[in-house]
Amino acid sequence: MWDHLDVNLYSAYLCAKEKISRYQLTLLNKLKMRNKNKKYFSCPICNYQGPFLSIRRRYDACPKCGSVERHRLQFLVFQELCKKYDISQLSMLHVAPEKYFEGLFKKEFLKYVTTDISKRKNVDYQADLRNLPFEDNTYDFVFASHVLEHIQDDEKAITEIRRVLKPEGVAILPVPIVSKKTIEYPEPNPYESYHVRASGLDYFKKYEKHFGKVVVFSSKDFPEEYQLHIYEDRGNFPQRKKPLREPMEGEKHDDFVPVCIA
Ligand SMILES: [Zn+2]
Repeated sequence: MWDHLDVNLYSAYLCAKEKISRYQLTLLNKLKMRNKNKKYFSCPICNYQGPFLSIRRRYDACPKCGSVERHRLQFLVFQELCKKYDISQLSMLHVAPEKYFEGLFKKEFLKYVTTDISKRKNVDYQADLRNLPFEDNTYDFVFASHVLEHIQDDEKAITEIRRVLKPEGVAILPVPIVSKKTIEYPEPNPYESYHVRASGLDYFKKYEKHFGKVVVFSSKDFPEEYQLHIYEDRGNFPQRKKPLREPMEGEKHDDFVPVCIA
């Protein structure tokens, strides 16, 4: 309620009534400061404009659709790709589908197929990314966001993605970039959502062995108003629960979306 209060109107009302107290003045000044310091953003997915929530990180979530930084960046990259490709004539394989994109992809692509390793999700195929049940050269697009950091034998998974892609097909394969250079873990870390590595930007070099071209988009490629940065303190590593991590300076980090062309 305080966020929407018209502070100036309320002060005018109190002054007019000559009922303003020192306490109320202090409160109003605090509110003015708060409103002044509030940052306003826009969500490219749902077109909401206003302050974002800070749930897991500062300014991470859109209060209307719930998207976080990576969803908004991936959405903007997807819009860029739509300028280049007539996706209404193309097919997509969506791995571990997230709700922000499921409806959009289903509507926009000619053929849309989903797959996940888990039985629980309502997907077309329950399958392991290292062994996909599809013929070679089946799909024009593969979208697998924040999946490969869960797979130890990621080379096998990338080979499979490349295999099911048509010639000149496009794979969008973002992973969280949380380290200066990639650190492989001996086993999944339960304190890091069972990730098997902390990837650095060098991780995307791996894609270059499988694809003809890799273009990496970053938060910096789009306007600040969309809030595509990850505000996270990565300076306090290693920790007991994250013993292999290395410190990374700064609190504001870019996010990245690699687009791989077969
Ligand atoms: Zn939104």
